[in-house]
Amino acid sequence: MQNLQRTQRQPVDAGVKIQVEATAMQKLWLWTDMAKGEVSCLGFVDEVVNADTNCITALVVTDFFLVKQNCSYDETDMDPSDVARLITELEAKGIDSRKLRCWAHSHGSMSVFWSGQDETCISGLANSEWLLSLVVNKRRDAIMRLDQYHPSHMYLADVQWEVKFPLVEGLAEACMSEFKSKVQEVAFVPRNRDYGPASLRNAKERGALTMDQLEDELEWLGLDRDELEPF
Ligand SMILES: [Zn+2]
Repeated sequence: MQNLQRTQRQPVDAGVKIQVEATAMQKLWLWTDMAKGEVSCLGFVDEVVNADTNCITALVVTDFFLVKQNCSYDETDMDPSDVARLITELEAKGIDSRKLRCWAHSHGSMSVFWSGQDETCISGLANSEWLLSLVVNKRRDAIMRLDQYHPSHMYLADVQWEVKFPLVEGLAEACMSEFKSKVQEVAFVPRNRDYGPASLRNAKERGALTMDQLEDELEWLGLDRDELEPF
């Protein structure tokens, strides 16, 4: 029988937006599907810096590069000389090879986790700053990890990340005009601004909430019925 129960993961917010561009992610999924077992690649990462604060606000993986490697059912071993070849080629094109700061690999049909071999590989990829690692599988599970090497090696094993879809030219304008012509928005109070007993009372008075819905909201908010008197 198929087990539909999956362990609930709780990726943490690393305090910086982490994204993988859609085309790069598509390459990784294609290589993941082509491989019988494991496969790995190196990702190019752009730092997005806030001009006012000079702080990094996002790390964006913009592309993945495949290097020569030996792979098996449960191992992937990149050829160091071919990694060196990639670095030389990037530098020759005037591209800063230090931006190769993402190691992605697939576990094939196995589950996603950080194995002892992965730990060794990540330690071996140590630079003086940081590294993103992404482990995926054929089932489209994926975990992103952020390692910091300086001043000491520490990491977040499961960080929040997302796929970044490129903005299609003209799409925002087209969506806006269609939205304006079809969507009528009545005046409403945003939930996060005023969502206390008073707004619930108003909603009930307007007939926007049934008594059952009101009970649900009260329970969710952890409020007592008495706070809403005279209901
Ligand atoms: Zn692994």
